Amino acid sequence: MLDFIDKVVIVTGGTRGIGFATVKSFAEAGAKVILFGSKKESVAKAMDLLQKEGLKVEGYFPNLNSLTEINKVITEIITKYKHIDILINNAGISADKKIEETTPEEFAAIMDINVKAMFNMCKAVTPYMKKQKAGVILNTSSMVSIYGQPSGVGYPASKFAVNGLTISLARELAPFNIRVNAVAPGIIKTDMVESLPEEVIAPLIKSIPLGRIGEVSDIANAFLFLASPKASYITGAILPVDGAARN
Ligand code: NAD
Repeated sequence: MLDFIDKVVIVTGGTRGIGFATVKSFAEAGAKVILFGSKKESVAKAMDLLQKEGLKVEGYFPNLNSLTEINKVITEIITKYKHIDILINNAGISADKKIEETTPEEFAAIMDINVKAMFNMCKAVTPYMKKQKAGVILNTSSMVSIYGQPSGVGYPASKFAVNGLTISLARELAPFNIRVNAVAPGIIKTDMVESLPEEVIAPLIKSIPLGRIGEVSDIANAFLFLASPKASYITGAILPVDGAARN
């Protein structure tokens, strides 16, 4: 098992789905995990669930579009722990409406959370990671960042941007021993996918060569690997975790 004892890890969108599984995995591996969520109530609920499993994590709910609010929380974390080792930018929203039904405001909202919030978080932790001469930043992309999707254009557009940010920051921050990578999930069994009817799920599974939908733990495991010293020569990578679905 990979060991993250005493590592300080921040996970955005850590209250449910992929983010929650990631928080849990790092906490189980000994890390000091701080989860960021969008609301006080969802953060409290996630912390409560983890506590029932004997895992102690901290939670915050800064507005990720406000660099000022993020900086305030990051300063608190640094004051308490003195270092931030791993940042996992996972918060995100998707879209599926056709372009005629999509408003510019909806398009901007996707960019705000999927791209601008990621930029803000990277900007806030970078000075500390540079001082440490060490750090890992991991971003949640998607396989739509390679293939696009037939509706909901804002979502793939945002994930193409995530890849651009990842590859570019990897090059900018490599001289400071900061690695930046992204994981590109295929179809993952979160609440939304699990609630789909069997007639929708069955053809989905058929289209995946590995013959199953991904589990949230598949993505958490990819993050664990990329955050670990076993990945010390990997930076600027977009790692597909999709059972070779490729569509
Ligand atoms: P989810 O909806 O279960 O979780 C999303 C998380 O993001 C939640 O914790 C939510 O609180 C947070 N979030 C959303 N808007 C926010 C905001 N404005 N401010 C702060 N936090 C906010 O989704 P998920 O499926 O677990 O997705 C997590 C990431 O994985 C996303 O970036 C998503 O694009 C990506 N992804 C998911 C799949 C999949 O099949 N589930 C596939 C590819 C990529």
